[in-house]
Amino acid sequence: MRLSQAILLGSTLLRPVAGDLELPGDCGALGMAERAVGAGWSYWPWLLTMRLAAPCRCPFQPLPAAWVVTHLFGCHVAEEFLDSFRKKGWVRSDERWTLEQLVDWVRSVEPAEAETGRRASAPCTV
Ligand SMILES: [Zn+2]
Repeated sequence: MRLSQAILLGSTLLRPVAGDLELPGDCGALGMAERAVGAGWSYWPWLLTMRLAAPCRCPFQPLPAAWVVTHLFGCHVAEEFLDSFRKKGWVRSDERWTLEQLVDWVRSVEPAEAETGRRASAPCTV
């Protein structure tokens, strides 16, 4: 199952509570996805290997995708972390995101399902 599908499915099972990557549990977008597939978020190895710029104009260097997803959910969807992050200067944007916007963004960056878990061969371009 792709991460975008798993977040949507998990959102029907759990309340939207901001989550911390370091504290596993039923919270955050990744917690929702974990509940949907019954596995940890390492189920999607690209979350650690793919580095992405935050799409929300907050001042981050490109980070592993897992951190970006957690930031978007905690600060722009659930907004529970917004005030504490703003005080630390980590959030420069008041953008509000819906869960659907977050899922659309995940869909735009996640690998095709065939590439999840094993590497697809590169297309021949010669
Ligand atoms: Zn942000």
